[in-house]
Amino acid sequence: MQDFLQARVARLVCDGGMDLDVMREEGIACLELFGAQKTIGFEHLGEVERAYLEPSSKIGSFKQPASHVRTGLPLLPERVEGPLRPHRSVKIVLSGGSYACRGCDRPVDFVFGRTFPPCPVCHREMRARAVINVHETLCSAMRPQ
Ligand SMILES: [Zn+2]
Repeated sequence: MQDFLQARVARLVCDGGMDLDVMREEGIACLELFGAQKTIGFEHLGEVERAYLEPSSKIGSFKQPASHVRTGLPLLPERVEGPLRPHRSVKIVLSGGSYACRGCDRPVDFVFGRTFPPCPVCHREMRARAVINVHETLCSAMRPQ
């Protein structure tokens, strides 16, 4: 029985979406999942098709095919500055576009002048601009307009 329990694999991400219920059951914090994705070379969560918690307690991941990569939460530290810095709820949107929740990666489009609401899925209050390419987003912000 012990071996059976230890051999269980839990699916943390399916079709690019985090399964928050499974993560809660398995005691996996979103920062652990994000860290594991970053370690194996993902730039943002839109690149991840599936992720599993293996019996070894390691997180294994599978990449989306290039045609299915969507914008996602950049896997940068929460205190990063610049165009990919986090935005707290009640702050005003200064640049319209798609922003991903830092708790569940759910991207939502916001228009200039509105305020960021808490995430309706996980209720976290931090968002960051959803990106398709971290490097291009950082570089485009440094280029003169
Ligand atoms: Zn969320």
